[in-house]
Amino acid sequence: MTSYLQAELISTGAELLSGRSVNTHARLLGERLARLGIALRRDTTIPDDLRTIQRVLQDAMQRVDLVFVSGGLGPTNDDITRQAVAEILKRRVVTDEASLRTLRERMRRAGRAMNAARERQAQIVEGATALSNAVGAAPGQRIEYADKVLFLLPGPPAEFEAVLDDHVVPWLREQLAGGTALRERILLVCGLAEADIVQRFEAADFPPAGIATAYCAGAGRVEVRLHPDSDTSEAALDQATDRAAALLGEAVYARERVELEELVGHRLKAQGQTLASAESCTGGLIGERITSVSGSSAWYLGGIISYADAVKVRELGVDSEVLAREGAVSDAVVRQMAEGVRTRFAADYGLAVTGIAGPSGGTTDKPVGLVHIAVAHPDGTTAERHVFPGNRATVREWTCRAALMLLQKVLPVA
Ligand code: ATP
Ligand code: MG
Repeated sequence: MTSYLQAELISTGAELLSGRSVNTHARLLGERLARLGIALRRDTTIPDDLRTIQRVLQDAMQRVDLVFVSGGLGPTNDDITRQAVAEILKRRVVTDEASLRTLRERMRRAGRAMNAARERQAQIVEGATALSNAVGAAPGQRIEYADKVLFLLPGPPAEFEAVLDDHVVPWLREQLAGGTALRERILLVCGLAEADIVQRFEAADFPPAGIATAYCAGAGRVEVRLHPDSDTSEAALDQATDRAAALLGEAVYARERVELEELVGHRLKAQGQTLASAESCTGGLIGERITSVSGSSAWYLGGIISYADAVKVRELGVDSEVLAREGAVSDAVVRQMAEGVRTRFAADYGLAVTGIAGPSGGTTDKPVGLVHIAVAHPDGTTAERHVFPGNRATVREWTCRAALMLLQKVLPVA
């Protein structure tokens, strides 16, 4: 099979057009495919209408090699994706025995009766490979038709994601192995804007011939991608990646796509060290992000949401005089919070944040968005001051990210 480099998504569901649901599939699929070096060229959102699905599907199959259809695999009479696809391919709809067994077992465990409507969910287009659905009833399907590949995926976002990650991504990765699509390199950069990065590259006459750069900014970081031409060697690509990393210095924090909380977890775990947190303006968001990483109990001990001044004093040992003199949002207080939580939890690292998330509470000296962050570590305490733009939600989000970023900077590379 040739490398599939172009894909389209057809999102079915009237609710996606009437404002009842947000179409999140395009974003997820685009991200997963981009990682594989496959471009998602188009997302067409249409109602669950047989003729519309068929027209759009035929068009998409003319344009690209890989077509995804999401939604309409359920038991209800508006779930018509199988039928629409089968008619176009001139195939029948058949019951997949393995899927039916799984479905029966699933119903039995849930104490629900099997019925004809439910059984419809085990039906697939003739010749399709059923892709088991770990979190729902209807399996996905992979259909190879001439030189095209179609994927039918369930609509509920958790199911779409599960089938995508369990079956589609691994299958595509296998098909692509050795092809050019996977030969990209990535640098994750924090603390430099796209314009700064480009400036540095241009000043150094980077990239060399045979390599193109691409950028994606968002979520407080920039992803720099290096794409080789087909005749650029692996060695040349590695060399260019090292050169780019050297040009950007310590702003580069990872060479693969990874969340900050995973990165810090990886480093703490590798050293057998632990973390505790003291949060004021983020009210637990940092703890939430950290504990979303599976296995974080190996390195995260817990935290204190020290929102009130009295709690900062009583639970973290912040000096009440310093607090009165400097204010709760200050360098002195955040350092004491970090040191306090480190000591009280007997952790190797203490992470603390305090800030003014707004919209009220700002002054000329201490505007809304002012945030102090500190990490108490075995060699001392490192603190930063930021003024983040935006509303309450974005200030809290930025604080969370900056805190994990500071921790990452302080942690030795695993
Ligand atoms: P079900 O078995 O639940 O009927 P299905 O595969 O038939 O699943 P749909 O009926 O089309 O899927 O959609 C089920 C749910 O998934 C709906 O709540 C819908 O809003 C949501 N959904 C469908 N497509 C998308 C999408 N592109 N983005 C986000 N949510 C979606
Ligand atoms: Mg449905």
